[in-house]
Amino acid sequence: MKKRRFLFPLAVAVSVLTGVTAAVRLAAYHVPGPLLVVYAVLTTSAIGTSIRFFAERLATTVHRCSADGCTFQVQERGVDAGESAYWREVAAAHPRHDLNR
Ligand SMILES: [Zn+2]
Repeated sequence: MKKRRFLFPLAVAVSVLTGVTAAVRLAAYHVPGPLLVVYAVLTTSAIGTSIRFFAERLATTVHRCSADGCTFQVQERGVDAGESAYWREVAAAHPRHDLNR
């Protein structure tokens, strides 16, 4: 849980720094001010969204059905070992193996 407390401010700082740095570098090419602001905001948003996406993917555990050709899967995040084991069993023994076909 402590990791999450640092992740959000770090993601915001990195994305804002990247957006502002890119806008400042563009200013050297005489890009108009309003365009620099739009560029900085969009770059900040894109970088922040990417960081959030990858952080969530890294924190997510995926349990897949082991039957050949079955695409059933369970994704869980932030659960304890007991609940993770429960979801692993659910993925291994779901009622029908053709749910996603
Ligand atoms: Zn299955």
